[in-house]
Amino acid sequence: MKLLVVGAGYVGLVSGACFAELGNDVVCIDRDGAKIEGLQAGKVPIYEPGLDDMISRNVAAGRLRFATQIAGLGGGDVDVVFIAVGTPPRASDQGADLSSVFAVAGELATRARGRLVVVTKSTVPVGTGDAVEKVMRSTAPNLELSVVSNPEFLREGEAIIDFMAPDRIVVGVEDDFGRQILERLYAPLRERGAALLFMGRRGAELVKYAANAFLVTKISFINEIADLCEAVDADIEEVAQGVGLDRRIGGAFLRAGPGYGGSCFPKDCAALLTTAQEQAVDLRIVESAINANRARKRVMARRVINAMGGNVRGASIAVLGLTFKAETDDMRDAPSIAIVETLRLAGAAIRVYDPQGMPQARQILGDVTFCQSALSCCEGADCIVLATEWREFLSLDLDAVARMARGRIFIDLRNLLDADRLLAAGFTVHGIGRRSRGPNREATAASSGAVVQSVDEANRATGVTNAGWRRMHAVTG
Ligand code: NAD
Repeated sequence: MKLLVVGAGYVGLVSGACFAELGNDVVCIDRDGAKIEGLQAGKVPIYEPGLDDMISRNVAAGRLRFATQIAGLGGGDVDVVFIAVGTPPRASDQGADLSSVFAVAGELATRARGRLVVVTKSTVPVGTGDAVEKVMRSTAPNLELSVVSNPEFLREGEAIIDFMAPDRIVVGVEDDFGRQILERLYAPLRERGAALLFMGRRGAELVKYAANAFLVTKISFINEIADLCEAVDADIEEVAQGVGLDRRIGGAFLRAGPGYGGSCFPKDCAALLTTAQEQAVDLRIVESAINANRARKRVMARRVINAMGGNVRGASIAVLGLTFKAETDDMRDAPSIAIVETLRLAGAAIRVYDPQGMPQARQILGDVTFCQSALSCCEGADCIVLATEWREFLSLDLDAVARMARGRIFIDLRNLLDADRLLAAGFTVHGIGRRSRGPNREATAASSGAVVQSVDEANRATGVTNAGWRRMHAVTG
C-alpha cells in the first residue's frame, strides 16, 4: 500500500520504517527541514535501537523516502495518510495542543482529491476525530473521507518490537471503507498474532489515555509502597516481586524509582484530566497518581541532600543517567531534570553523564559539567546519584569508581546495582524502598526471611546479567 506519515518524530519515524519493512511504499513528511535533510543524508535524528538499520535497509530498497511537503494526493495515489505530529500540553490548561493535528488535516483537505483515509496516530483527546472530520469536510465537501483513530502504544527503547509485535492494535473507525483499508494494512501483523481490535472512534481515542493513566497509577502506587517499605524496614524489590507474580496484577510497571517522566505519561494524564473536567467527571485516582508523582520528583533531590547530611553547598555531585528511562535519548520530563536543578540551586556543583541523552540534556540543563564517561563523571564526586537504569552502568568497575570519587555516598534511584558490590567498594548505599547500608549504617539489609529469591540474589547469581537488566527495563516501560 502507499502511505504518507506526517510527523517524523519517535512515532512517525518508527511507524514509517516498520510499515516500509512490511512491504509498503512510505513517505515520511516533516516540516522540520533540517531533520528531513539529515534523514535524506542517512542521519537518523533519534536514538532507538534497530531504527538506523531498518531505515537504511528500506531506503535502499526504495520503499522509504523523506520529504518536507505533503504531495501526491491526487486521487488514488496514496491509500492512507497517518498523522503522527506532536500533541504537547497547552500552556493555558495542560490539555492537548492540537494545532499541529489540525494544521495537517487542513492541508490534507486542500490537497486531496477523490478518496482519502486519514488515520490519527498522535495521542488526541476523545472527540478529536469528529472535529478533524468536520474541518476536512467543510474544506473538501466532495472528498470521500474516512477519519480513523489508531493510537500508538509503542515504548521508546522497545519501539520496533512493540510496533512489529504489539499486544494489540486499536482501530477506531466509523465507516466500512476505512475499516477494510486498516484491516488490509495490518494483516501481516495480525498473521503474526497481534490482536486487531475494531471499535468506535471515540472509544479508541480514550483507550490510549486510559491505558497510560492505568500505568501511571501502577507506578505511583508502587512508589508509595516503597516509601512504606523504608519506614517499616522491608525491601521493595521483594514486595514488588511477591505482588507482581499474582497474575491478576502482573509484574510490569512495579519498579519503584524516582517517578515517571517522558514525553507521554505526564502530558497524557494532564490531558485526560482536562477532558474529564470539561465533562464534569471526577477522575480522583488519576489525579492522585499525578500529584504523587509530582511530589516524588521534588523529594528525590531532598533524599540526596539528606544523605549528604542536610547540606550540599560546595559539594560535587555526579549524576549517572539523565534520560527519562534507558534505551532512549528522550529527556522530556525526565526526573533527572528536577533533581539536577534542585541540587544546583542548593549549591552543589553537578557533573552529569548519559550514554545517549547528552545532546538533548545540553539544551535543558544549565551550569553543569558534561562528562565523557560514567567513570570520568565520578571524578572528585562527594556523592554519586544513579538516575537512569542504563545497562552500561551494570558493568561499571566500582573499585575504579571509588578511586575516582572523593566521597563514599552512592544513591541508586533505580535499585540497579548490586548493593553488596557497592558496599564492598566502600560506599554507603541508598536505594529506593530499602534500608540504606554502609559503614555508617547497619550493615544488614532488611530481611523478610522470604522464600522467594531476592532480586539482589538473583542478580548476583547471574553476575548481574543483561537478562536481569532486560527484565528490569521491560517492567519500567
Ligand atoms: P515528536 O515531537 O518526536 O515528533 C513530532 C514531529 O512532528 C516533529 O518532528 C515535528 O517537526 C513534526 N510536526 C509537527 N507539526 C507538523 C506539521 N504541521 N507538519 C509536518 N510535521 C510536523 O513526537 P512523538 O514523540 O513522535 O509523538 C507524536 C505523537 O505520538 C504524540 O501525540 C505522542 O503523544 C504520541 N505518542 C508518542 C509516543 C512516544 O513514545 N514518543 C508513544 C505513543 C504515542
